[in-house]
Amino acid sequence: MNLVVLEHVDGAPTEVSMQALTLAQGLGGATHALLIGPGAREAAATVPVAVAHVAEHEALDAFAPDAWAAIVCEVSDRIGATAVVAPGTEHATDALARAAARLGEPLAANCVAVTPGNPLALTRVRWGGSLLEEALLHAGQALLTVAPHTVFAASPGSPGATEPFTPELSDADLVVTVRDRVAPAAAGVSLPDAKVVITGGRGVGSAEGFGPVEELASLLGGAVGCSRAVTMAGWRPHTDQVGQTGSKIAPELYIACGVSGATQHIAGCKGAKRILAVNTDPEAPIMSVADYAVIGDLHEVLPAISAELRRTAS
Ligand SMILES: Cc1cc2nc3c(=O)[nH]c(=O)nc-3n(C[C@H](O)[C@H](O)[C@H](O)COP(=O)(O)OP(=O)(O)OC[C@H]3O[C@@H](n4cnc5c(N)ncnc54)[C@H](O)[C@@H]3O)c2cc1C
Repeated sequence: MNLVVLEHVDGAPTEVSMQALTLAQGLGGATHALLIGPGAREAAATVPVAVAHVAEHEALDAFAPDAWAAIVCEVSDRIGATAVVAPGTEHATDALARAAARLGEPLAANCVAVTPGNPLALTRVRWGGSLLEEALLHAGQALLTVAPHTVFAASPGSPGATEPFTPELSDADLVVTVRDRVAPAAAGVSLPDAKVVITGGRGVGSAEGFGPVEELASLLGGAVGCSRAVTMAGWRPHTDQVGQTGSKIAPELYIACGVSGATQHIAGCKGAKRILAVNTDPEAPIMSVADYAVIGDLHEVLPAISAELRRTAS
């Protein structure tokens, strides 16, 4: 019996959750799902699993990692789950790590493939995506997260039963909880959802230098990203950062401008279908992962692309 923790937005399971479900189903045996908080019941009704457990509690309106961990432990104990799988997002990883500590079991994070058996044979992403590790998981109960965008979500099947329940939560489970959310300054498409991302690195030169990056993003209906060198310089907020310690994204097109292509940066954008590098240095490491490159000054190249887009649109 496997339990998969599914995150959901606007009453539908997220894409990375469905990827986690596909990996969980590959383990064999029946798969149950766990969905938590507002909108969970609606999302659960679409999920192709034997039973979708829906945790409903007034304290679950905001994310609370220990509460999630308590709920994971409660449900996995109730159904006798031998494996618990979740998407490798910040929230689900946080919750599963806490569940692992409660259960006294190891957590294998960022799996990309699992071969059923005892022990489970895992392939997982390590070192910010620069290493694929083959490992055997010796555990009473396997706790796994799935690296986002590394597993294709199978086509949805028929949904199973939905079982709402009220979890038992203590005050200690609710000590850590999200109290407030700060909306990003810029409106428009968000970095993780954008089909096109135009990222600026240190080569942009200054906060004001992002003008051509923002202009191109607006013309292409895309989002602006940046490297850590940029956030460290205070030119852009951390919410724009792509990489090992930023967002991990998989757009159709990733345009990296003035970005050298450090492994920690590539960890965040290597899921992109196509990468276009704009860089003055033809030897920059980004070239080894780029599908297309323009060797030149981004302050000349980007306005030229924007001008051409405007000309063809008029
Ligand atoms: C634990 C750890 C975690 C990290 N996490 C992240 C992360 O999440 N994301 C991340 O990005 N980095 C991360 N880093 C930092 C990473 O190692 C690099 O230092 C960083 O990515 C470099 O940013 P950059 O490419 O913008 O700058 P640089 O490496 O300085 O590259 C600038 C590039 O711009 C080019 N350039 C200069 N001027 C122009 C111009 N006018 N036109 C066109 N090209 C130009 C240069 O040729 C160069 O290739 C992390 C590092 C560590 C140790």
